[in-house]
Amino acid sequence: MTRISRQPVVQIAAIEHYEYCPRQCALIYCDGIWEENQHTIKGTRAHRRVDDRTASRTERGNRSLRAVPLWSERYGLSGRSDVVEVHPSGNVYPVEYKSGVRHGDAADLQLCAQAICLEEMLEVPIKRGAVWYGGSRRRRQVAFTDALRRRTLDIVGLIREQMTSGILPDAPNDARCKQCQLRHHCLPEVVARQRRVHRYLTRTLFE
Ligand code: SF4
Repeated sequence: MTRISRQPVVQIAAIEHYEYCPRQCALIYCDGIWEENQHTIKGTRAHRRVDDRTASRTERGNRSLRAVPLWSERYGLSGRSDVVEVHPSGNVYPVEYKSGVRHGDAADLQLCAQAICLEEMLEVPIKRGAVWYGGSRRRRQVAFTDALRRRTLDIVGLIREQMTSGILPDAPNDARCKQCQLRHHCLPEVVARQRRVHRYLTRTLFE
């Protein structure tokens, strides 16, 4: 019997933001802040084709379903898969589209969360999927190992903790901030300066 999660539902897309910067994830999913920059606009453009559910089709025996809604009651997840392929063998194979090139493991984790949802929805095991990178125009296969599944669910747990605690993580104020679409809302330099002042006062007054 499926255990129904009573906890806040985590959006699968939040995993990528959390992997990039936990503060960015909290600003978007707890505070509802969003701003476009050249990277997000590029990503939206690259997704146009896969966002069109009517563009589902069959190619060389593979059925490609686009913009497939996903959920997991067991793990409290919700989201969408860019493409779910159903192969002639009956294998179900999720594919995530990224506009650029590979950056860390965020896409693998997001894809793994999609597979976890599909397994629960369709009651079939899913061993592999793929990430398609627009930058290289290549597909990379991803195996859903036990380690990747554990890491994915750990991050889902951390995002849920953010949602319930209401605590905004510190700003790392590092190279990531230069590319971040929320830079003007986050003010990482100001937050880092305040942290330095707080540390200085604590050392001076109490040590
Ligand atoms: S500006 Fe930097 S610290 Fe702030 S959300 Fe973006 S990456 Fe995170």
